[in-house]
Order: sequence, then structure tokens, then C-alpha cells
Amino acid sequence: MAKLVKIPSFRLHSFIIIVFLFDPTLSLPLSDCLILHKISNFTLPNSSSNYAHFLRFSLQNLRASGERTPKPMAVILPETKEQLIHSVTCCMRSSLDIVIRCGGHSYEGLSSMPRGKNPFVIVDMMNLNGVTVDLGSETAWVEGGATLGELYYAIAEHSSSHGFPAGVGPTVGVGGHIGGGGIGVLGRKYGLSADNVLDVVLIDGLGRELSRPNLDEDVFWAVRGGGGGNWGVVYAWKVKLVEVPPRVTCFSVSKQGPNHELAQLIHEWQFVGPTLEDGSYMKVKSDYVKKPISTEGLEGALEKVAPEPKGLVILDPYGGVMDRTSSESIPFPHRKGNLYNILYAAFWGEEEEGERCLSWVRGFYDYMTPFVSSNPRGAYVNYVDLDLGTMDSTNVNGVQFDDTIVHKAKAWGQKYFLGNYDRLVKAKTVIDPQNVFSHQQGIPPSHVHIHDEL
Ligand SMILES: Cc1cc2nc3c(=O)[nH]c(=O)nc-3n(C[C@H](O)[C@H](O)[C@H](O)COP(=O)(O)OP(=O)(O)OC[C@H]3O[C@@H](n4cnc5c(N)ncnc54)[C@H](O)[C@@H]3O)c2cc1C
Repeated sequence: MAKLVKIPSFRLHSFIIIVFLFDPTLSLPLSDCLILHKISNFTLPNSSSNYAHFLRFSLQNLRASGERTPKPMAVILPETKEQLIHSVTCCMRSSLDIVIRCGGHSYEGLSSMPRGKNPFVIVDMMNLNGVTVDLGSETAWVEGGATLGELYYAIAEHSSSHGFPAGVGPTVGVGGHIGGGGIGVLGRKYGLSADNVLDVVLIDGLGRELSRPNLDEDVFWAVRGGGGGNWGVVYAWKVKLVEVPPRVTCFSVSKQGPNHELAQLIHEWQFVGPTLEDGSYMKVKSDYVKKPISTEGLEGALEKVAPEPKGLVILDPYGGVMDRTSSESIPFPHRKGNLYNILYAAFWGEEEEGERCLSWVRGFYDYMTPFVSSNPRGAYVNYVDLDLGTMDSTNVNGVQFDDTIVHKAKAWGQKYFLGNYDRLVKAKTVIDPQNVFSHQQGIPPSHVHIHDEL
């Protein structure tokens, strides 16, 4: 293949010379391209016993690991920023879709599944998990493959009076979590994780490394809460550390029961606990509550919860700084006027339980309709829910995008982002007009100009 190179004009030759240079990497198969760039840390389906191990390693939702789920052509585990950039460009040159994975906690398994019908590669960020803390400026750079636990640990090694506002699960990844907002126990005091991002190193579909001030400000706005996997690969986030007291008192509320019931519970647990594997099947949905729900409404909800032992409902109170942050400051819009967020979840261990658990989550969500936000019914992008709508598989890949697709994506885009959806489309069109980075609920660019220059 040929690459078009423009050479600037000389004084003696006051015209532009256009030459075609041969670029040996352009037509290489993926593995040859990776090796050419000194990337050896990858695994292919037919060449390595590690393939199944790395494919499964951080995948949390077993719904994405079934026999029928298409498997990637490779799992690449870059170890440096340069390897990450070459991983992206090698996939592009081999016409393979790129799926990025950090902590693997996407509730719909989006970081482990194909985004459409094209063959795909998982770029797993787990080796890019460094954290550099600078107490002088009260900031840290955290690589886009780190987990929340690794970030918390690194901060705690430097200071007992600093922290970072993010979620409670230590194995959740900063790549997806911060990219979709990130709410945790410090949320009412310091807001979301994404509210506390100062800069980013983003690798785009052309393999360019972009940070402020060279990163378009709409794109910088979009990456902070506009959903992971849409804008490029986040190589690293620069985050603001927040003050926390050196000692924190925690409490938990426990419910007591008759001894014979507790004994039965512990008895059962002895058989189950030691044999539990990491990972389960899961499904979640979410809502926002703006007006207190009546006791009658809550009694009805409790009746729905009681019969499903695999069901779980979490209420996350908002208020505090969440009320004082503008709905447009980052893409996450659910601020003033929201009392709390509801997570409806079911986690189950046997595939056969799937139908019952899925129908419980969906039935409960339907029951809650009159009690929660409407027009549009809000949802949290980090509690990703494909029931809200998906792209046709033909639209996920690099086909022509037009206003029909942008309109269609409102089905989930407006629930996750309310009035911020249009600005996300604008940012997407700037940073990724060819829709290199996407998934079933991506933000589409408004136009795509296909070109094969790389
Ligand atoms: C056990 C558990 C506990 C949770 N607790 C909380 C909580 O307390 N608060 C809360 O707000 N949410 C919570 N969540 C939801 C969680 O924030 C989201 O699922 C989040 O997207 C997971 O991020 P990840 O990197 O682990 O997931 P992944 O599945 O790796 O990624 C999620 C999405 O982000 C993309 N992505 C990942 N890394 C990058 C990167 N470096 N650059 C660009 N795109 C990337 C992926 O392609 C995918 O589309 C929890 C989820 C689970 C399963």
C-alpha cells in the first residue's frame, strides 16, 4: 500500500512535491504488525494456552462469556503507552474492531464482546496500571488500566489525609468508571470521579496522543462521563485528590433474626462460600427518583423484591455537592432535583436461572415507572442497560452515519445524558468521525467520511 506524503516547498523548487512511499506495516497481518512494533504480550485463539485465561481474566459478567458469544481474534496487553498506540494502529491496519477493557465490570459485558459483526480484538489495559501521586499539587496521574483499589492504595501510600471520590468496588477499573461518571461514598461531598478529572491522555483512532490544550474542549468534556469506549483509549487520567480525615468512622446496620434462621444461613454458606468462583451472571437497570415515594408505593416494591433471592436494590442518596454542580458541567446530567439513584440488580450463578432473574429485574423496573423520573426516564451510563435500545449491528461499524442513526441513539443517549446528548454527538464527530471506538450503545458521529489514510 502507498502512503501520501507532502514535502514542503524549497526555495529552488517553489512547488509541492508529492511522493508515494512504501509503508511496510500497512498490509501486515495483526500479529506481524505487533511483532514489528516489539509487542509480544498478546495471545491468539489458536496459538496460546493463555488465550482463554486472559480472555476470561477480568470479565465479570458470565452472560458475556457463553459458547455462543463471538470471541476476539486476539487479546493484546500493551505494557507502555507506545505499545498501546501501536496496538490501536495495528488493529486499524488489519481492519479489526477495537474493544477496550480495563476492569471488565461493564454490567452488559461490553468490554469483552464484539460491537457488531466484524472480527474484533480486545485491548486489555491491565498492565497499564501505574499511579503517580504528586502531593505538592494534590494531583495524581493514573493509567487507564488501573483499578479503583490500585488508585486508592497508591494515594494511601503517600498520604493518610487524601483520597479520591469514586466507587466502592476495588476491582472496578478507572477506564470505564471515570469515563461514565463514578459515584461513591464521597459523592455528596466531592461529586463524581469525573468531576475531579483535570486532564487526560487520549489515544484516538489515528493513534494520536491528545491532551489539553491540544485536545478539543468539547472532547475533554465528553470523556468525563460521556461513557467509556466511545472517544478513544484513555491512556491516563490526571485527577484531583481530595481531603479526607485521617480517621473515618464507619458503621453498618445489621438485621437480626431468630437463631435457628441464622444457623441455617451459616450452615448453607459453609457449602457454598469456599467453592464460589469469581464472576456471575448479572443484569442491572437504573432510575432516578425526584419525589419521595409513598409508603404504599414502597410496600408494593417490597412485595416485588421479597420473592427473588437473587435480586438486589440499592438506593444511592444524592444531594450535597451533587445539587450544586451544573447539569452541563460534564456529560453526567443527573444533579439538582434528584433525591437518589436506584440500581435494580440480579446476580445469579447458574445459566438456567437467567430467564427468571432477567424477567424479575425487568418486571420490577416496570412496576417503578410511576415513581421515578420521566420524559425522559433517566438512567446512569455506568449501569449500562441494553434494554434501552441498541445500534443495528450494521451501524456499529464504519458505515455511513446520518441523522437517522443520531436520532435512533437518542433512545439511550437522552436517558443517560438528557440535554447533553447533542453536545456529545458534536464531540464524537470531532474526535472519532469514523466511529473507530464504539459499542452497541455508542454515541454516533453525525457524519462519517470514510478514508483509508493511516
Ligand atoms: C461489582 C461492581 C461494583 C460497582 N460499583 C460501582 C460504584 O460504586 N459506583 C459506580 O458509579 N459504579 C459502580 N459500578 C459500575 C462501574 O462503574 C461500571 O461498570 C464501569 O464502567 C466499569 O469500569 P471497568 O473499567 O471496570 O469496566 P470495563 O468493562 O473494562 O469498561 C467499561 C466500558 O468502558 C470502556 N473502557 C474501559 N477502559 C477504557 C479506557 N482506558 N479508555 C476508554 N474506554 C475504556 C470499555 O470499552 C467499556 O465500554 C460497579 C460495577 C460492578 C460490577
